[in-house]
Amino acid sequence: MLPRRHALYGGLGALALAPILRKQSAIFLVSSVLFDVDHYLWYVMTHSDWSLRNALRFFNHVRSGNANLNGCDARPFHGLSNVALLGALSLRWRFLRPIFLGILFHSLLDAYSENRLNPFLPLGWRNLVSKRS
Ligand SMILES: [Zn+2]
Repeated sequence: MLPRRHALYGGLGALALAPILRKQSAIFLVSSVLFDVDHYLWYVMTHSDWSLRNALRFFNHVRSGNANLNGCDARPFHGLSNVALLGALSLRWRFLRPIFLGILFHSLLDAYSENRLNPFLPLGWRNLVSKRS
């Protein structure tokens, strides 16, 4: 999912959770958007290039089909085990809870947009986000 989509949906999620999270809804929003920083870190590690502009250009080429990742996972932090670990840590340390919720929200949006949640969704909801992206 594109970062601007994460910002839009993260903002809506932060607004919806504001009565519960209060000021921490801003942390929810930031973590739900910045979780994709692992794409950039992957790009830096594999291309030895710190240019954010070049990284964005590269991933736009990948998205358009003009480049590929050669089977590499460009999202090393996006795994279920990492999200589950952060969830477990947030049970112990309260300050991690809005970060965990933002990252969980981000991960669910990614899974939904990539049709990985289809088995759990009603027929009318399937592919709804990916058709609009
Ligand atoms: Zn993501």
